Amino acid sequence: MRKSVRCGDVIIGGNAPVSIQSMTNIDTRDIPRVVGQIRQLEEAGCQIIRLAVPDMESADAFGQIKKQVKAPLVADIHFDYRLAVAAIEKGADKVRINPGNIGSRERIQAVVTAAKARNIPIRVGVNSGSLEKDILQKYGGVTAEGLAESALRNAELLEQMDFEDIVLSLKASDVALNYQAHRLIAEKTNYPIHIGITESGTVNSGKLKSAIGIGGLLLAGIGDTMRVSLTGDPVKEVYFARDILKAMGIRPGGINLVSCPTCGRTRLELERIALEVEDAIIPLARKREALGLPPITVAVMGCVVNGPGEAREADFGVAGGDGKGVIFARGQIIKTVPEEAIVSQLLELIDQDMEGHR
Ligand code: SF4
Repeated sequence: MRKSVRCGDVIIGGNAPVSIQSMTNIDTRDIPRVVGQIRQLEEAGCQIIRLAVPDMESADAFGQIKKQVKAPLVADIHFDYRLAVAAIEKGADKVRINPGNIGSRERIQAVVTAAKARNIPIRVGVNSGSLEKDILQKYGGVTAEGLAESALRNAELLEQMDFEDIVLSLKASDVALNYQAHRLIAEKTNYPIHIGITESGTVNSGKLKSAIGIGGLLLAGIGDTMRVSLTGDPVKEVYFARDILKAMGIRPGGINLVSCPTCGRTRLELERIALEVEDAIIPLARKREALGLPPITVAVMGCVVNGPGEAREADFGVAGGDGKGVIFARGQIIKTVPEEAIVSQLLELIDQDMEGHR
């Protein structure tokens, strides 16, 4: 089992479920707007939120923001160890540094000493765009072996300072390279691992790369906390991270939606029904998560060919007919309802299912 660390009230590693992270994309000095965005991220289900701290003014703002929000906050630091120390003193729940660009051993030691004093972890972040020169030379460019070596080397540096509250991350925008590098560090260390595909692109291309990259790692049993990186609104990162976990059934309380692609046999507005169910189950999934309930599957199927089978296999489902639908619950037919009542009927059943647990 991997080691675990605590970031605020979130455990990363050990037996803890995979946590979702994101990063604000507003100038950290703009305190009211950053606080607003953090609240949106929290509302969307983000559990750990990272803020860039590029200067001392941002470090001061970080402290003020920390007082106004509940979610654990991570200070993202490059180059200047004094910013890391300041952010830690102002209440950071974790700092993300790349020891390689912090400079001398003394400077790294200052960050470690501050983190120890506050009992917070350090995320050692290695990125394919900023690998050490000697590693690039040794491997003839950016390779999985080089990324893994850099992450392990940096972790060892902290270990030599008697610090092991470490989360490792190494990120590449190349999905295959990213996968291979993670396999290597997962074999060689038992620190918790932060996974993601860096600079994956816009919502359209980034979603695909992240689904494959993060999904592949999770299937291989790698990943204790994750961030989907998308160009644009970070709230979308959280929705999509939740979708990945939900699709893999590894999110407690999640609701997995199964729906057929429709075809010439479809005799009702199945796409509309599936989209309405998809939207409406988001708050229900949140409630299930809060109650610690296991994941469920909801099937929205277009006809009698595969519909009854899928709907029966799911926890709740509908098999469409001509302007109507047969509703299933836990493998049993409940009733047949007109098309316009299908969504409300399914939602009622999902809601009732939580009754005894509230
Ligand atoms: S379930 Fe029925 S309507 Fe949907 S794709 Fe299959 S055959 Fe077509």
